[in-house]
Amino acid sequence: MSKSQSTINDQRSTYLTTGAAGFLGSNLSLRLLEGGHEVVGVDNLQTGRRQNLEELKKFPKFKFVDHDIIEPLKVEGSFEYILNLACPASPPRYYQDPVKTLETNSAGTKNMLELALKHRARFFQTSTSEVYGNPKEHPQRESYFGNVEPYCKRSCYDEGKRYAEALIWQYRHLFKLDTGIIRIFNTYGPRMDPEDGRVVTNFIRQALNAENITVQGSGEQTRSFCYVDDQIDGMMKMIHSEEEGPINIGNPGEFSILELANLIIKLTGSKSKIIHTEAALSDPERRRPDISLAKERLGWEPKVGLEEGLKKTIEWMKMIKN
Ligand code: NAD
Ligand code: UDP
Repeated sequence: MSKSQSTINDQRSTYLTTGAAGFLGSNLSLRLLEGGHEVVGVDNLQTGRRQNLEELKKFPKFKFVDHDIIEPLKVEGSFEYILNLACPASPPRYYQDPVKTLETNSAGTKNMLELALKHRARFFQTSTSEVYGNPKEHPQRESYFGNVEPYCKRSCYDEGKRYAEALIWQYRHLFKLDTGIIRIFNTYGPRMDPEDGRVVTNFIRQALNAENITVQGSGEQTRSFCYVDDQIDGMMKMIHSEEEGPINIGNPGEFSILELANLIIKLTGSKSKIIHTEAALSDPERRRPDISLAKERLGWEPKVGLEEGLKKTIEWMKMIKN
């Protein structure tokens, strides 16, 4: 059977999670399975970790479907929720196949919206702070339209995600589909792929191996880092609400990349030195979510500070290294 004809035969399934082998998809699926729910995880393993899948497969209520969402997916049974997380989130990874990144966000999102329509399921989308581009408003509120360069290397992700939001708006208004969008700000923690090039895992890996810490550009650019447990709490609230969004989910604590590097050196007790490498292409200079809407509509705010979250992530990375 071709992947495009993949069929699942399970009447009990309630949640379908795309990107289930990835960092956030696996953490979210685990949370749902631990709550006794049934989860069908869909992934093409483009950037997902097999170890994440192994953890999920320990639950009898988990089923895995190896499928690329740019192809239509036939699923038997009934789903109450379609959770769309499939898409590489690390810049080096979405550059590996940029046309595919665009297709995952366009054709892939459309296929999952069609599935939600068929099942009359609530459709949940993981959008991104990248829709704000290199923001001129700071911190970023959901009402800010962004400052995105449409014609450049990075736009395969940014514009892909913006297209997905536009498509979801149409499905909601034309077909009365129940939809909810969150915009995720940099999230980190256990079950990330330590080799996928994102800053937190790169720096921890380098620090644990006593290698140079590669700060790209001046290191004065900022990010707001959210620990994964907080992010999953926010997702769970959004999924199980009637909110349309988009709603920012992130930690408003803002740190420069140099501050992050120094903190990781301190927490690991590493002898690593900081070196400066070429700045990333179209790199946003600063990013910080305004989370007033998440507080007001979802009663959500993050609880884990950067130092505490980094300590947990460092312990996890030491554990998987051994
Ligand atoms: P990830 O790369 O760890 O996981 C993405 C998963 O999607 C992988 O398992 C990958 O194999 C799968 N996938 C990719 N393309 C696919 C396709 N066409 N068909 C089927 N599966 C496919 O990334 P993540 O950090 O877990 O991000 C999950 C979602 O959250 C993404 O949509 C991302 O854009 C969004 N997001 C994440 C962050 C973050 O900081 N982690 C920030 C903003 C937005
Ligand atoms: N970054 C860095 N060194 C690395 C990886 C990333 O200095 O080894 C920087 C990157 O240039 C960016 C920030 O860290 O300014 C966050 O990068 P990441 O790829 O984690 O996420 P995103 O750019 O999507 O926010």
